[in-house]
Amino acid sequence: MSTARAARSALLLAVLAQSRCSGSDDSDLTCQVAVVGGGVGGLHTAFRLADTLGDEVCLFEKEAELGGRFRDISLGDDPQGPRVGAGARRIMEGQKVVFDLAAELGIEVQEVPGTVDLIHARGAFAFSKDAEIRAQQAYQDIVGVKTVTITQWWPTAWYERIVDPLASSDNRVWRAWTTEHCLNFIEIPLEPYAAAAKVTRSVYTDDLECSNYWEALAYQGTASVEAEVKKGLEHLFVLNGGMDLPGLTP
Ligand SMILES: Cc1cc2nc3c(=O)[nH]c(=O)nc-3n(C[C@H](O)[C@H](O)[C@H](O)COP(=O)(O)OP(=O)(O)OC[C@H]3O[C@@H](n4cnc5c(N)ncnc54)[C@H](O)[C@@H]3O)c2cc1C
Repeated sequence: MSTARAARSALLLAVLAQSRCSGSDDSDLTCQVAVVGGGVGGLHTAFRLADTLGDEVCLFEKEAELGGRFRDISLGDDPQGPRVGAGARRIMEGQKVVFDLAAELGIEVQEVPGTVDLIHARGAFAFSKDAEIRAQQAYQDIVGVKTVTITQWWPTAWYERIVDPLASSDNRVWRAWTTEHCLNFIEIPLEPYAAAAKVTRSVYTDDLECSNYWEALAYQGTASVEAEVKKGLEHLFVLNGGMDLPGLTP
């Protein structure tokens, strides 16, 4: 292990260890940089800064555990017992920085075959073989998170003129991301059957306010939903991307 990597690992171990202490006295900390929030964003930032600043990078997390919205929850008091993912767990094909980080840290990335068997119970996912997990009352009690996903069929493939600079020939889909108008990302199909069908899938933020907003629009009818979809995509591609996409009409 290189010195830099050892230093970063030590930092991570230190914050992980500290995260388990409650009420630790931080009054004698010396920090050149303070990172507020131990979600994946803060952790990665601190991890990179530690290359040059070592233990003078301080990470502050208000909760007892690190991870933010990336987190699994225990189903009992046994730390070795089953855990259920209650937050992020998927990596998109285009998230190169995450793949690179996993490789750098020696973390194995699991590919879930499309044919199996993620079970979905009240908002939580597990592999269907995890009978032990599914049997737990706590698992059954998990409350789901409301999200909105809209699949659209288009008369013309207006998105064909957009070039993804990172696309490779084995990509099945590419995603364009934004935070405008409750749109999270749109998936542009590259797989032949989906591309031929002119189908896109837009995934909208899991922010409850946005989910409720989409629900209210759905009650108003398809035209309201389509108008809002168009607004989000125009923000992404026309206003921010500077593109002229005349076919962008749901
Ligand atoms: C149910 C769910 C599923 C998701 N699935 C995926 C997925 O599969 N793939 C994917 O890529 N993304 C997914 N996401 C999104 C992903 O989880 C987030 O984009 C990502 O975790 C955000 O990281 P972050 O560090 O920016 O923020 P957060 O994870 O929100 O972290 C912020 C941290 O700051 C701490 N904090 C806040 N205020 C203070 C303060 N004043 N002092 C100290 N600490 C503070 C918080 O406690 C928290 O730990 C999902 C999100 C949810 C909710």
